Amino acid sequence: MIIAIFDGFRMGVVEGEEIVDVTDGLPHYDPGFSANFWVRMCQGFETIRSTFEILAREGQRKSLSQVHLEAPILNPSKIIAAAANYAAHVTEMRKRSGTQSWLNQFGVFLKAPSSIIGPGEPLILPNVPGREIHHESELALVIGKGGKHISEADAMDHVLGYTIAIDVTVRGEGDRSRRKSYDGFTPVGPWLVTADEISNPHDLDIKLWVDGDLKQEVNSSGMLVKIPAMIAYASDVMTLYPGDLISTGAPPGVGEIHPGETMVVEISKIGRLEIPIAGKKPKASPPV
Ligand code: MN
Repeated sequence: MIIAIFDGFRMGVVEGEEIVDVTDGLPHYDPGFSANFWVRMCQGFETIRSTFEILAREGQRKSLSQVHLEAPILNPSKIIAAAANYAAHVTEMRKRSGTQSWLNQFGVFLKAPSSIIGPGEPLILPNVPGREIHHESELALVIGKGGKHISEADAMDHVLGYTIAIDVTVRGEGDRSRRKSYDGFTPVGPWLVTADEISNPHDLDIKLWVDGDLKQEVNSSGMLVKIPAMIAYASDVMTLYPGDLISTGAPPGVGEIHPGETMVVEISKIGRLEIPIAGKKPKASPPV
């Protein structure tokens, strides 16, 4: 099932080129408190799946082109992101930074949930003189049932579904959480594809274009640390809550983005996320 949020926190089921508005039939749905509903839905999706299916059969259909999609995630308690998780990206970052140490071991870090924007929403670049701002196209997953110390064997039972994220990053020195947490630095979308639709998340093609030029292209089979290990690792550190987002790490080919350009990411079996870039061109001046 493909679940989308659209037109001011409406909930919809996507089928082909159409979306069915299921909002009014959902139990206890209150648009004023939609994040609460979302978290409950993530926690117990299997108990409400049949309601979605019935509503999707009976509800009003619209063409996707008639609606405005929003980020398919509401107020996650955290965004967890994997550090470089493809061998060729580890290599390119080592060349760039000249350091050998910081990528040698797998790790996860946090991004501010306030950095999330949805499909088509402009990413307004901050003014960071002397720094490059980079795109990182990533497969992301949404946690369903939360937990702590989740085993690798159980990990996939905690995945509600998959979406696309761009881990926008100010390159260079300084705290990583700050460099990746500016407003707009986590575009997510276009929707959530439930886990049952994707039998193998480690066989998805991930591509990113900037203004039509293909910049990143990888298959998720190349992940160094696979999703079950990532969930086990992260949940040993922090309790995973329903609705948390985990971004699985950048493929090679990261590069600079500029105002006026458009980023497009496609992941097979998920869809296409398009983000226009706005903002003033940073003045060239020495880093502070
Ligand atoms: Mn990343």
